[in-house]
Amino acid sequence: MLSNDQLDRWDRDNFFHPSTHLAQHARGESPNRIVTGGSGVYIEDRDGNRLLDAFAGLYCVNVGYGRTEIADAIAEQARELAYYHAYVGHGTETAITLAKMILDRAPAHMSKVYFGLGGSDANETNIKLIWYYNNILRRPNKKKIISRWRGYHGSGLMTGSLTGLMSFHNKFDLPLSQVLHTEAPYYLRRPRQDMSEAEFVGHCVAELEALIAREGADTIAAFIGEPILGTGGIVPPPQGYWAAIQAVLEKHDILLVADEVVTGFGRLGSMFGSDHYGIKPDIITIAKGLTSAYAPLSGSIVSEKVWKVLEQGTDENGPIGHGWTYSAHPIGAAAGVANLNLIDKLGLVENAGKTGAHLNNAMTAALGEHANVGEVRGEGMLCAVEFVKDRETTTFFDASEKIGPQIAGELVKLGVIARAMPQGDILGFAPPLCLTEAEADIIVEKTVQAVEKVLG
Ligand code: PLP
Repeated sequence: MLSNDQLDRWDRDNFFHPSTHLAQHARGESPNRIVTGGSGVYIEDRDGNRLLDAFAGLYCVNVGYGRTEIADAIAEQARELAYYHAYVGHGTETAITLAKMILDRAPAHMSKVYFGLGGSDANETNIKLIWYYNNILRRPNKKKIISRWRGYHGSGLMTGSLTGLMSFHNKFDLPLSQVLHTEAPYYLRRPRQDMSEAEFVGHCVAELEALIAREGADTIAAFIGEPILGTGGIVPPPQGYWAAIQAVLEKHDILLVADEVVTGFGRLGSMFGSDHYGIKPDIITIAKGLTSAYAPLSGSIVSEKVWKVLEQGTDENGPIGHGWTYSAHPIGAAAGVANLNLIDKLGLVENAGKTGAHLNNAMTAALGEHANVGEVRGEGMLCAVEFVKDRETTTFFDASEKIGPQIAGELVKLGVIARAMPQGDILGFAPPLCLTEAEADIIVEKTVQAVEKVLG
């Protein structure tokens, strides 16, 4: 076995980490963590630390760590048939079973599942399908995609463009010209303090209408949004937002993609965020919670309305020119089947609603009145604390103070992992859906201590 020093050297010399300060990491100036194991909501590292992972990896290990049921299903599938492709009508029992299980859980108007590997490639697939759809309908100009500032949809070329966070655009020559951004449904940051929630929804709708009028509805193909903003700050939509936005989209014949990579399979206390907020999407993106990250797998669930046009397209043009080598990979599919069965067996959707409410209530009680807390917010098993310099005016701290990362850093020292969200001083929590109330209380208690350490 390699010594810790040797592993550290190899890591810094060879491994290009995502979302990392590359130079500091290579020079050994920033800490690394080599993770060795996990059980329930805890992970362990090589230095002997046991940490409560209150972000479930990257909000993906929904059933928690160390589930042997999923590991066994993966091993069994690997022994029986590790791989076969899904092109030209091929498939495996696990992939076919999983597609059926997903559609049994999805909103009734959804029709078929295309499988990919991660959330980014699933959203790339979605955009290609939408462009194909409008070409088949003889609407070659209807191609632009509207996303929201602070939305997160991946970090590929198209998906990084859809993402509305500056660090995913700057110096990458993004966003691409086919992508337009509109107002984030972020009530705390409303344009005027005296705006009611209903007035703010009206403002978001007016911004969207103005954008559509400026560009021309005949140039706009789709709108993509997460049911609740995730990486952009864990921001639940204001009351009535989705109904109002959908009315605009319907009026202009614009498709709706619900990006449920975070919310799919229970995180909000409902099987899908679309059910939770009364959204009727044309396409749903799924990943993370589909396998609880035990193997990489994503999907695009397409509605009957979209599917009919895709069928027409292949009748007119032959087989669809889209596919990955690893689409519907049997090992990912085996993980997905075992994971969805486990979610049902353990009642995790219900627990996400119940224990998530406990976490949110306890966090609000503990920090809601703190002089530097602008807002404690969340839904289901998602929670965020936003720090501000001045509570009355919700003024930001200077970014150079790195308040969010400092608090996250102190919290890790106390044994709890939360995420300093990438834009603003926002501490995010997205624990595994199997969290208990006692574990939620530990998260809150340690967060209060970390906040006191940094802000007093
Ligand atoms: N969509 C949403 C809502 C996400 O939160 C993420 C990742 O966090 C993605 C898409 C991209 O998924 P991936 O990182 O698997 O490519």
